[in-house]
Amino acid sequence: MAKTRTSKKTQKTLDSYTIKSTKKTIKPGDCVLMRPSDSSKESYVAKIHKIESLDSNKKNIKVHVQWYYRPEESIGGRRQFHGTKELFLSDHKDVQSADTIEGKCIVHKFKSYTKLKEVGNEDFFCRFEYNSATGAFVPDRVAVYCKCEMPYNPDDLMVQCDGCSDWFHPACIGMVPDEAKKLEHFYCESCSTEEQKLLQTSNVTSRHTDTKVGTKRRRR
Ligand SMILES: [Zn+2]
Ligand SMILES: [Zn+2]
Repeated sequence: MAKTRTSKKTQKTLDSYTIKSTKKTIKPGDCVLMRPSDSSKESYVAKIHKIESLDSNKKNIKVHVQWYYRPEESIGGRRQFHGTKELFLSDHKDVQSADTIEGKCIVHKFKSYTKLKEVGNEDFFCRFEYNSATGAFVPDRVAVYCKCEMPYNPDDLMVQCDGCSDWFHPACIGMVPDEAKKLEHFYCESCSTEEQKLLQTSNVTSRHTDTKVGTKRRRR
């Protein structure tokens, strides 16, 4: 019995941990990639809450984590508007051996992700929290765009209408992406009809009641 007591005593919270393979230092609050037990799967992504040493010579280090889920791991599965680097912050917490940490990564807020000049391997984004038991998301609704009325997928090129400011997928307006990129001005179908009618009063005030995802990249 004395032994278990000794091991309890040496349990110590650490401020940081150095990843063996990359020599990078992680701290609580950082996000990391963790090796899955099935090596054919993609690395898991987790947020570190606490780092703990269970013995005095810091051989046995545990991390308290909160898992990020990939869209395919969610109950509803991957949807068309989910980005390739999209993650959901789940309510699923765990304690793992620090040995399974492969590297550091960054989980950006949606807005900052859309502003990245380049997306590296270690860049991800999160715009939803996810309840792993019920499959529910917070927020449970986001703004939709285009004729197809889809939430914004930051992987997709979209063009903005100069009339109503809505955003459109090239394919939904009968264009290929290269054509869309060259557009100087674009008026969507309903706006060009309005123009022809020379309507004075505009009824094109934004129909988006929720502007949470109003962070589209600007058309250059
Ligand atoms: Zn569309
Ligand atoms: Zn328009």
